[in-house]
Amino acid sequence: MNLRWRDVAAATGLLGADGSVRSTVFAEMSALAAATGAVNLGQGFPDVDGPAAVVRAAQDALAAGANQYPPGPGIPELRRAVAEHQRDRYGLTPDPDREVLVTAGATEALAAAVLALAGPGDEVLTLEPYYDAYAADIALAGARHTTAPLRATPQGFRVDLEALEAAFTDRTRLVLLNTPHNPTGAVLSREELEAVARLAVRHDAVVVTDEVYEHLVFDGLRHVPIATLPGMAERTLTISSAGKTYSFTGWKVGWVTGPAALVEAVRTVKQFLTYVNAAPLQPAVAFALGDPGVARWVRELAASLERRRDLLVEGLTAAGFGVVRPQGTYFVLADGRPLGHDDGTELCRRLPALAGVVAVPVGAFTRPGSTTDAELRSWVRLTFVKRDEVLREAVERLAALRPAG
Ligand SMILES: *Cc1c(COP(=O)(O)O)cnc(C)c1O
Repeated sequence: MNLRWRDVAAATGLLGADGSVRSTVFAEMSALAAATGAVNLGQGFPDVDGPAAVVRAAQDALAAGANQYPPGPGIPELRRAVAEHQRDRYGLTPDPDREVLVTAGATEALAAAVLALAGPGDEVLTLEPYYDAYAADIALAGARHTTAPLRATPQGFRVDLEALEAAFTDRTRLVLLNTPHNPTGAVLSREELEAVARLAVRHDAVVVTDEVYEHLVFDGLRHVPIATLPGMAERTLTISSAGKTYSFTGWKVGWVTGPAALVEAVRTVKQFLTYVNAAPLQPAVAFALGDPGVARWVRELAASLERRRDLLVEGLTAAGFGVVRPQGTYFVLADGRPLGHDDGTELCRRLPALAGVVAVPVGAFTRPGSTTDAELRSWVRLTFVKRDEVLREAVERLAALRPAG
């Protein structure tokens, strides 16, 4: 019997040769942090909550009785706020009634989009490394996962454009894009997005783009949604969420925007996954999206994350890691090879004892046996979405790794 959960376990590297299922490396590393008292820079969630005004809006909604099922597509105020955000920020003009769908976080939007639009015989193309849920979603749909590598360069992690072109086939049904990119911190350039767009059009593929870090971009760079490129709005589903933008990762309020027919397809699946979620949080997120004070808070978060990125990048560099400076997100990738560590998974298991810090291996974001898996074997991911004092403590501890002399 071929049960789908086994495909999911296999696609995410969790299925042992004897048929047993391992826990994820995130669970293993968090347990290690708890057991050893190490500074946990493994999982990426903020240790400071988002704006108090947004919490108050949620409290008000709870007290005012927003406690029953909201409408299936999401409350109208939130759909309107999402549409206005896309218009004011990017010049996109989704119709709030037919082209915006509220979901249980970006996670549900991704799963519902892949389940709705790909199946057995189809290929779903992602960048590699990739956010781990993508491999699981593609396995759930019974589709084939193909990848195009991001490579470490002096200009950050960049898409290998030749490999991207070679990865497209006549069966490429979906391109599952992610910018700003977790885990590399790459913000895709216009040239990279144009290459994806040109190939998606040539192969008649739909683009599903995960933009949950759209506001967390550094160095004066600007996030460009691929839906804004000529000819792309009609074949693109854009996904985002309140979790990363407002530092409420536990709220799980996400949304998808795009052409009515594609949004309808996603809604058809989504309504039988969760149906609806987070009734009292939806008005609070609608408030957050439209409030100028909250928008200022988000800009300050991005500026503060940029400084915290610098703190961690400098600390990792001083400790002897090879580091590629991320352009956005919560994360930095660091190479242990200059310090004599060739295996990122082994390094992460030893890091609490060696330096009192927890990281996760980049192998958690690659396909076993791929070229990227081999290239990034000695790399680890660390988060800088922690308070300054936590990062300073981690940096001080990491200095212990530097060989004496
Ligand atoms: C955190 C994250 C998500 C999940 O977002 P939720 O809104 O919490 O479901 C999706 N994609 C990427 C790349 C992420 O880092």
